[in-house]
Amino acid sequence: MDSLQELNREIQSCKRCDLFFSRKRAVCGTGESNPQIMIIGEAPGAREDETGIPFVGRSGRLLRDVMGIAGLDMDSIYISNAVRCRPKIGKSPRISEIRKCSNFLRTEINILHPQILIPMGNSPLKSLRSVMGIDFGPISEIEGSIFVIGNIFVAPQFHPAAILRNPKRYERFKDNFLKLRNFVYDVRKMDMAEIEKNYRIRHINGA
Ligand code: SF4
Repeated sequence: MDSLQELNREIQSCKRCDLFFSRKRAVCGTGESNPQIMIIGEAPGAREDETGIPFVGRSGRLLRDVMGIAGLDMDSIYISNAVRCRPKIGKSPRISEIRKCSNFLRTEINILHPQILIPMGNSPLKSLRSVMGIDFGPISEIEGSIFVIGNIFVAPQFHPAAILRNPKRYERFKDNFLKLRNFVYDVRKMDMAEIEKNYRIRHINGA
């Protein structure tokens, strides 16, 4: 599969897991076609299930606000999810659902070649484990770190829903995005000396 249109048609007709039965719409990724950054959320919520568009509910608003404060342009990124259909109300997706859906994320990354992946929360980290064969660990231990895997950078953050549930995390979440703005600039220059000096970098061999 070599085009996003083809991929999105496959997502919209997918019946690989039980979430197919309860969804109104499968939610495809959206955004810039040549993105430097890909944000990977967890799964569609109620608004996303209604509209078919990712990150349009309260979490999406918080993310847009913080990205705006950090001076990061939402229009220059690509937004995707670990699973494309709404999980049972109030539940996170199950590992079996994440694994079945991870092929779509793998294909998106292969088509779009983003330099920086921002998985938000544990579900996208589990999906990336399927895609890249790397166990990054739980989000509570690694958020704010930046992993270097070949020529891809992975910068995990809490999911905005976790910030809404626990507002004490907001300042750190915002600070992480302010640092990410500078990081994005340094990655554009591919200034590895600056990158090594300024950020909590962890190198991982192979992917
Ligand atoms: S969550 Fe993913 S694997 Fe499951 S039905 Fe939806 S698109 Fe298919």
